[in-house]
Amino acid sequence: MDYVIPAPPVVTLAVEGDERRFPVRRIYCVGRNYAAHAREMGHDPDREPPFFFTKPADALVSDGATIPYPLATRDLHHEVELVVALGKGGTDISAAQALDCIFGYAVGIDLTRRDLQAEAKKLARPWDVGKAFDHSAPCSAIVPARAIGHPAQGRIRLTVNGIARQDGDLAQMIWSTPEVIAHLSRLFTLAPGDLIFTGTPAGVGPVERGDVLNGQIEGVGDLQVRVI
Ligand code: MN
Repeated sequence: MDYVIPAPPVVTLAVEGDERRFPVRRIYCVGRNYAAHAREMGHDPDREPPFFFTKPADALVSDGATIPYPLATRDLHHEVELVVALGKGGTDISAAQALDCIFGYAVGIDLTRRDLQAEAKKLARPWDVGKAFDHSAPCSAIVPARAIGHPAQGRIRLTVNGIARQDGDLAQMIWSTPEVIAHLSRLFTLAPGDLIFTGTPAGVGPVERGDVLNGQIEGVGDLQVRVI
C-alpha cells in the first residue's frame, strides 16, 4: 500500500509470557465505578448507570516509561484502574457471555487533567481535553486470562514516590467487568484489540514533575512510570 503521508504505527502492548504483542484498537473508560471515588468527586454513586469516555490508542504509555508533564494543565491527577483487553467483540453481549470476550488484564493509570475536566463539566462540554491527551494512558503488559482467570476481587493500589495514595479492592466496583462489557456493547460494536479502563477507587490526587507512580493490582501485576 502506498500512502500519501507516513502511516501511523499500530499501537501495541506486551503480553506476559508471549513474544507476540497485543494490537490496540480503541480505549474505552468507565466513569465513577467505585462508590468512594464517586463521592470524593461530589456525586451520588447509587443513582447513576455506567457512563463512558474514550482515549485515543496512541495515548498508551508502556510500563517503565518516562512521561513529560502534559501541556495545558496545572492539576494532573492519577487514577489507577483494572484494564480489560478484549480478544473478541460484538454487540449486545450479555454479562454471561462477556468473560468469553476477554483476552487478558492489565494495570492502567487514567491520567487526568483535572482542571480542564472540571472546566468542561462546569460548561457542559466534552471531557476530551481532560482525559484524551498525549501520554494519558500508562498501561502494563497484558496478562492472559488463561493464566490468571478473571479477577473480581483483589487489592488495587497506587503509590506516589512510595507513599500510598489509592488503596481499594476490585470487589468495590459498582459495575463488574462483565456488566461493563454488556453495557458498553449496547453503545458500540466492540472488537478484538479494544481496551476498557474500568474505573478508579478513591484517593485520586495530584502528580508533580519528578514523581514516580506505581500501580499494583493483586493477581494481575504492576506498572511504574515517572513524570518529568
Ligand atoms: Mn478513570
